[in-house]
Amino acid sequence: MPGGTDQTLRPFLWRAEKLYPDTEIVSRTHQGIERYDYTEYSERTAQLAHAMDETGVPDDARVATFCWNHNRHFETYFAIPTTGKQLHLINPLLPDEHIQYIVGNAEDRIIFVDPSLLEKLEGAAQSADEFDNVEQFVVIGDEVPETGLEPVTDYESFIEGHPTDYDWPTLDEDRPAGMCYTSGTTGKPKGVEYTHKMLWSHTMTTLTPQGIPMADDDVVMPVVPMFHVNAWGMPFTATAAGSKHVYPGPSPEPEDLAHLIEEEGVTITAGVPTVWLGLQEYIQAGNDVDLSTLDTVIIGGSAAPKAMIEWFDERDVEVLHAWGMTEMSPIGSVGHLKSDLEDADYDTQVEKRAKQGLSVPGLEWKVIDDEGNEIEENGEDFGELYVRGPWVTKEYFKRPEANEEDFEDGWLKTGDVVTIDEDGYIKIVDRAKDVIKSGGEWISSVELENAIMAHDDVKEAAVVGVPHERWQERPVAFVVPMEGADPTRLEREITEMIEEDYPKWWMPDDFINIDEVPKTATGKFSKKDLREEYADQDLVEGQVPDEAAPDDD
Ligand code: AMP
Repeated sequence: MPGGTDQTLRPFLWRAEKLYPDTEIVSRTHQGIERYDYTEYSERTAQLAHAMDETGVPDDARVATFCWNHNRHFETYFAIPTTGKQLHLINPLLPDEHIQYIVGNAEDRIIFVDPSLLEKLEGAAQSADEFDNVEQFVVIGDEVPETGLEPVTDYESFIEGHPTDYDWPTLDEDRPAGMCYTSGTTGKPKGVEYTHKMLWSHTMTTLTPQGIPMADDDVVMPVVPMFHVNAWGMPFTATAAGSKHVYPGPSPEPEDLAHLIEEEGVTITAGVPTVWLGLQEYIQAGNDVDLSTLDTVIIGGSAAPKAMIEWFDERDVEVLHAWGMTEMSPIGSVGHLKSDLEDADYDTQVEKRAKQGLSVPGLEWKVIDDEGNEIEENGEDFGELYVRGPWVTKEYFKRPEANEEDFEDGWLKTGDVVTIDEDGYIKIVDRAKDVIKSGGEWISSVELENAIMAHDDVKEAAVVGVPHERWQERPVAFVVPMEGADPTRLEREITEMIEEDYPKWWMPDDFINIDEVPKTATGKFSKKDLREEYADQDLVEGQVPDEAAPDDD
């Protein structure tokens, strides 16, 4: 029966408050390390709930955050949904135009923003009608830097003086609790709403031994940004388990992560492969880092390289390779070793663990080939992965046309092309969606192509993702210039056009002039052919300057 009051987020914090009042929540900040316990966390959460009430925004308002990973951001994680409001996590790395669209589409009423992201938000908000609904900006910290955003206050003044307890309402489990946007191939980002029940069931499956189990003696450090699908649900799961939380703060460098692991005794951490490559390089450069407390590193968002799994194995740290999507709250599969593979040789085991894993309990999937048939699970036949389950969204927010494309008979079409082997492990072999994932962040190849083709001297342009050791993928643009166009001038002008409208990490690493974009039988650009052609040219990996990466600060 739909509806009900049982599967909501509040009981997770209720339990942590009762059973683990002294367990710590630690956060790196620009000012140093801050720490307090679940008792103080709960009190501050109550104060925040009162402060939001005082603004007069409705009980079901959408309240947004524009923040890195820290304790105050974590306070919003419970205070917003458990009062009945909806926690909207905005990705600050998006182009301004996308930020404007999602703030308008979500009709956010309050926005919490980090001081280091204030300028970015202000830039996006400038003369944008989409921000008209915002009634209050709250800058994280205890002072408000110079800003044009109004009305504005600082977080500490906002919550100060409010009672430290709150009469938490009884909520319906189908009430929206959270929201994130995912970048589509074309058009604007698509909103995904998470109900209490979705987040509750996601937390429960994550807690199983087949998920990412946590306990009250764990020290959990999500490096995956809190604006990425609720930091993969870790703040909720760690609270449900009564674990200690460690938040790495703004733009953590490998050195910061190393310190936190050592000083706080981190046992479980999570992030995209790029983050762990940074830590590896830091250690390989001769820095002595004690990883002895670390039991598990969860790697997801992009494929975990085998060598990375082996590197952690050598240091007695277990890698759990996980796959998921914004639409799935996000976890769908985790690369645990099945018990009957425990006696297999090491290479076979690593081979399995480097796949995207086994479905977590409660999720169902099927793989459909080009002819519309389910594939054979032999590790070779491939098709598009479809999923359904309690924490998988059934629709996008106010986007009927996207719903038609991406959902079928209650199944979400993931756009990931996979094989399934005889043991049930999925392996992503291709992506049906035309997007590039660089350092865990999406770049729309179609948007870049349109931007390039807007130049009068460009006849055709195709942008493809090419494998890259550090960022997993980087964009490369293939351009067909109009006859007589000067290629050097053209590249400079295109670069300037892209620079103006997109973050610097969207800039293609290379512009390659070609005579014609190869086409499929139906006349579409054949990116597969381009990727193969590019691979043959064997252009150097690692040529991207660091500043091309998703910026952190
Ligand atoms: P997002 O919605 O931004 O979390 O992106 C979800 C997409 O990221 C998936 O559909 C995959 O294409 C990709 N992805 C997530 N996890 C992995 C993984 N472990 N290996 C390869 N690709 C992944």
